[in-house]
Amino acid sequence: MPDKVVPPSGTVGIVGGGQLGRMLALAAARLGLKSHIFAPDADSPAFQVVAARTRAAYDDELALKTFASTVDAITYEFENIPARTVTLLSSLREVRPSARALDLLQDRFVEKKFVRGLGIETAAFAPVDSEAGARAAFASIGAPSILKTSTLGYDGKGQRRVQSADDAVKAWHELGKTHCILEGFVDFKRELSIVAARGADGSVACYDLVENVHENHVLRTTLAPASDAAQLTPRAIEIARSIAASLNYVGVMAVELFETRDGRLLVNEIAPRVHNSGHWTIDACAVSQFEQHIRAVCGWPLGNPERHSDAVMRNLLGDEVLAWQAPAQERATCVHIYGKSAPKPGRKMGHITKLYPVGKRPSLG
Ligand code: AMP
Repeated sequence: MPDKVVPPSGTVGIVGGGQLGRMLALAAARLGLKSHIFAPDADSPAFQVVAARTRAAYDDELALKTFASTVDAITYEFENIPARTVTLLSSLREVRPSARALDLLQDRFVEKKFVRGLGIETAAFAPVDSEAGARAAFASIGAPSILKTSTLGYDGKGQRRVQSADDAVKAWHELGKTHCILEGFVDFKRELSIVAARGADGSVACYDLVENVHENHVLRTTLAPASDAAQLTPRAIEIARSIAASLNYVGVMAVELFETRDGRLLVNEIAPRVHNSGHWTIDACAVSQFEQHIRAVCGWPLGNPERHSDAVMRNLLGDEVLAWQAPAQERATCVHIYGKSAPKPGRKMGHITKLYPVGKRPSLG
């Protein structure tokens, strides 16, 4: 399919209706583009901010065909879309990032093999598809290690810590005897990520390397930029560029990294989409990750990813969103609330971004 530019007044189709789809649609609106959200849940937060919405299951072929016929380009806000959905949509409209990139990055085992093939470090890993496989993987990886489902995991779901071969077998049963990967536990110094965009013309724009603090496997806080990152940043950019170029990727991706105690960067995971650790870019950069993604998907030139402020982004989880009045009174704090109905414990309900002059971001703790 030839590269075509979607001009203002064109329509971007977004598969998925969560907060990422909502923020993509808001960014598209700023550029004069319309968004059409395709999602199965009636109370999808992205539905609230768009004029066109399709509520249907991801395997509803008729609904997918109708959706594709009303939009000029298609993207998605989460990676766990069934492969058949993306294949069907790709046969009808340009889908960015491509079905090939999505397919590769949906499976942790395939993803890690691909990353290693580029000469980039990861934790030690081995596939687990049987009891014997679990024992063999443990024999090669050792303790401590983590068994993860190879597909469909997020925010630490589908993961078990493993200390012995028996543990590995038990964990494989607990995870549903599905296709898994055993990973060596990395005693990391800290978790970092880099959000990068690649345009249809092959140009790449990277945001600052940031530092992420997790609680219960869920992102709690992002510090932008990461402290003491001067040494690490060139390597992080090189990693992101190499991954994006080798996939002929178009759109925004996030590369989650572990910094080891001896200063190396290991890739943990690649998200083929906008990412929670890039939310700070809405308020601290001229062009946010969301606008950057829309620009790439629509064939526009990428914008400037430089940050004009330092930032600390904190997720509002569950009931924390009910206390929105305090941050709303702070002058340099930007409040984002996703419009979700039920503040269930741990659910991402919104986020706040505190801005600081460049070089003045406080450290945590
Ligand atoms: P993931 O779903 O792979 O991003 O994992 C969620 C979180 O679990 C990560 O952000 C880390 O805090 C932790 N984690 C995952 N894999 C490893 C590993 N191999 N070693 C140490 N911690 C890990």
